[in-house]
Amino acid sequence: MTALRDQIERAADILRRARHVVAFTGAGISTPSGIPDYRSPGSGLWENDDPYTVASLSAFRYHPERFFRWVRPLTARIFAAQPNVAHEALVALEATGKLDAIITQNIDGLHQRAGSRKVLEVHGGLHTATCGHCHRTILATERLQKFVADGELPICAACGGILKPNVILMEEQLPVAVFQRARQAALGCQVMLVLGSSLEVLPSAGLPMEAINAGAQLILVNIGSTYLDERADVRIEGDLAIVLPEIVSLAGLSVNA
Ligand code: ZN
Repeated sequence: MTALRDQIERAADILRRARHVVAFTGAGISTPSGIPDYRSPGSGLWENDDPYTVASLSAFRYHPERFFRWVRPLTARIFAAQPNVAHEALVALEATGKLDAIITQNIDGLHQRAGSRKVLEVHGGLHTATCGHCHRTILATERLQKFVADGELPICAACGGILKPNVILMEEQLPVAVFQRARQAALGCQVMLVLGSSLEVLPSAGLPMEAINAGAQLILVNIGSTYLDERADVRIEGDLAIVLPEIVSLAGLSVNA
């Protein structure tokens, strides 16, 4: 038996026995869908812009046009992307009733588009936006699609203010209520699945550690190391689109199994 096969079987065994599972997902679950990890050098998204000069809250207030110029190619990629088999494996896991929550750092909405319901977006998402002037929150997908097509900044229909997509920018607080629910889920789970996150962005990356400190087992699938590698019950270096459907199916939990 290969080492990878052995790890997949151990992960499946842990998952099969658990009744309360929480998944914590990062950029790595969406890279098979063609969405680059926009925090990484080499993603092509930071090459011309320092993130602090475009993607911070103060930068957005003073120079929204620079933020939108930066976010336009990422938004285009996100709208063109489809959920992949790793997202679908989590939908299947949720259907078994074992999955208490998907805590995601991703803003792409692909978990929801795949059909997952228990999604907690700790870094926000692109599908809603809030007017900086009258503070109305609206469904933003159509406006942003129009912006991707014609480059015109999305404007509030009620007052003409500039709409800010509800993604958490640098300098911005995480959404308190969502983060509280994520922490509760993490503290109540028996198995924490960390999927495609290098666990570098605090404070959300602290949630898996809180889970294991509260007694959860940790299954970690990522390309590249994380600060929790030593504490993982199973640590798999691999592509989620290959590994995760195998784990779920081997655990006898996929809908098709
Ligand atoms: Zn407005």
